[in-house]
Amino acid sequence: MARTIQAIRGMNDILPDQVYLWEFFEQAIRECMAAYGYRNIRMPIVEQTDLFVRSIGSVTDIVEKEMYSFSDSLNGDSLTLRPEGTASCVRAALEHNLLYAGPQRLYYSGPMFRHERPQKGRYRQFHQVGAEALGYAGPDIDAELIILCGELWKKLGISDVRLEIGTLGSAESRALHRGRLIRYLERHLGRLDEDASRRLHSNPLRILDSKNAEMKEIIEGAPRLLDDLDEDSLAHFEALQGILREQGVDFEINPRLVRGLDYYNRTVFEWITSRLGAQGTICAGGRYDGLVEQIGGKAAPACGFAMGIERTLALMLESGAKVAGSAPDAYVIHRGEVADGFAWKVVRRLRDGGLKAILHCGDGSFKAQMKKADASGARFAVIVGDDEAQAGEISVKPLREAAEQVRVGLAEAVDLLGASPRMI
Ligand code: ATP
Ligand code: MG
Repeated sequence: MARTIQAIRGMNDILPDQVYLWEFFEQAIRECMAAYGYRNIRMPIVEQTDLFVRSIGSVTDIVEKEMYSFSDSLNGDSLTLRPEGTASCVRAALEHNLLYAGPQRLYYSGPMFRHERPQKGRYRQFHQVGAEALGYAGPDIDAELIILCGELWKKLGISDVRLEIGTLGSAESRALHRGRLIRYLERHLGRLDEDASRRLHSNPLRILDSKNAEMKEIIEGAPRLLDDLDEDSLAHFEALQGILREQGVDFEINPRLVRGLDYYNRTVFEWITSRLGAQGTICAGGRYDGLVEQIGGKAAPACGFAMGIERTLALMLESGAKVAGSAPDAYVIHRGEVADGFAWKVVRRLRDGGLKAILHCGDGSFKAQMKKADASGARFAVIVGDDEAQAGEISVKPLREAAEQVRVGLAEAVDLLGASPRMI
């Protein structure tokens, strides 16, 4: 026998029994986004590598070590499997001039790829839902995005999640802060890990985002960006807090919230749970006023978030969510020359009537077929023998309740099966 081929490490199959939960989630997303006026957009999974380098930033974990990049064998272009959706979404909005029609509320969902060390809640192919509000400058849209998430958690039955917010200020205030931060970190040079030493002068702010526990103490003692904030950013941050308070949204301010991508400014936020171990951030976002221009568009402010679907579903399960697929209404068993042909007509009629009907395929005695009917979870077995077929009738046997088997004409079958077994 040939050696079996397995899926790539960190890339998961989502099996039918799990898909029910995904579909439940996707339906909740569609309803929630529609309720807030966010429209779905679908971008390609592969983009020019440069799009991500320019937007996410070259001195970030994603661009330095996590991207799946390859060269197009036909023309040598450097292409990348998208590690996130914001850059593609902004690229698409610009390419199709969506912003000419005014600000846009958009959302997307799909697989993302990052070459990370696979562990619980961290995969190489994972999925995100992201919302992007392009062309909006005020703190009201930041608040709207946060409130939308809060509503979604309710819809999904998730309660054990807290909101942290922070601000990165303007490019100017970050530049001012950068100098102070470098001077502080230089005083602790011997204790910086390899990443931090390398980033000390290229991207010191990124050091605050380190996942290395040994760096924790140094990070705690670092000067706070909040203290170097420009006036406008401070006003924006305070207005956001005002709206959240007024709308009854609980939050904590985290002055160390940095985010792993360079394009953020002003507002940043994360939704975090303590129930998923180290991979506790289920959703993260913020404002990225410079990105549209950076990607080549006319400057436009923007704000958005991305939610990790695997982590969110894991938290739903932790919170006791139970989602099962709906069982078929009927499993049609048949045996006999006339019956085999008539059975096709029966399933067609049931399906046309809006019922879920499975046609037994393959051979088998009535007894063996009946076992299959039972195992399918169907509410009814529909039995077609030559005798029934010749009369244009079927026998209906309720499988989930103690009720009598009845024989009816095909025309009545849809009504009968659409009703509860009790009514027979
Ligand atoms: P982390 O700090 O956990 O690496 P991140 O800051 O790199 O996350 P973002 O780029 O902000 O993550 O992505 C938004 C969300 O997508 C995360 O909060 C998380 O829920 C999810 N996510 C990111 N990377 C992965 C991954 N490798 N596997 C599963 N989910 C992920
Ligand atoms: Mg990461």
